[in-house]
Amino acid sequence: MRPLIRGEKPNNKDFQNYGEAKPYLIENIGKYCSYCEIKLNHSSAEVEHIKPKKDYPSLKLKWKNFLLACKNCNTIKGKTDINLSDYFWCDLDNTFRAFTYSNGFIKINDNLTEREQEIAKNTIELTGLDRVPGHPKHSRKDTRWKERQDKWGIAEKSYNNLQQNDTESLREMIVVLAVESGFWSIWMTVFSDDKNMLERFIKAFPGTCKDCFDQDFNTVPRPGGAL
Ligand SMILES: [Zn+2]
Repeated sequence: MRPLIRGEKPNNKDFQNYGEAKPYLIENIGKYCSYCEIKLNHSSAEVEHIKPKKDYPSLKLKWKNFLLACKNCNTIKGKTDINLSDYFWCDLDNTFRAFTYSNGFIKINDNLTEREQEIAKNTIELTGLDRVPGHPKHSRKDTRWKERQDKWGIAEKSYNNLQQNDTESLREMIVVLAVESGFWSIWMTVFSDDKNMLERFIKAFPGTCKDCFDQDFNTVPRPGGAL
C-alpha cells in the first residue's frame, strides 16, 4: 500500500459537501485508490472517509479525514467502525512495509513484529484486499485481484525488457506505463533491485511519501508513524 502525503487543505477552502474535495485529492495524491492502488478516473474515484461519516458526522467535511478509494474498497470499508490504532494508514504510516506483493497477491510482511502483523491483517481485511475467487466473501463483481495480477504481468514484462535493452528512453516509458497502470507497490516490488527505477516510481506517483525511504530507497519507518 503506497504511503501518501495528502498535503495541506486547499487555501481557505471550506467544503460544503465532501465531493468538492475530489479534484484536490486527485491533484495531491493521484487518481489511485488509496487502499488497493487501482487506477481510477475522475468519475470512479470516490472521496473516502477514514472515520466513517455515519458514525462521525463532525468529520464528514474534514480534509484530514479524506482519502480516495474505489467502489469496492469504499463499500467494504464502510461496514466497519474505525478505531484508528487497529489499522495502518497510508497517510500516517509506512504502509509499504506492511505487505508483500507477489503475482498479484497481497500478504503480510513476515518481518514485522507479532503485533504489527496483527494490525497488518486488520488492514488487509478492512478493504478486503485478500478477496480472491475462493475467499468466502469474494463477490464476482470484485475484480481488483485480476487487475492486480494483470498489472503484475505488465510490470514483469517491463522488467525483463529492461534487462535486455537498458536505455534511458525505455526507463522513461516504463515509468509512464506504471503511472497509467496504477499499483505502485507492484512496480516497486518487481523493480526492487533497480534503485534508479524505484526513485523514478516514488517521484512519478503524486503524493508518495519520500520520507518512507532511505537514500538507497530501502523502506524505513515513517517519522511519527506506527510503522
Ligand atoms: Zn480500492
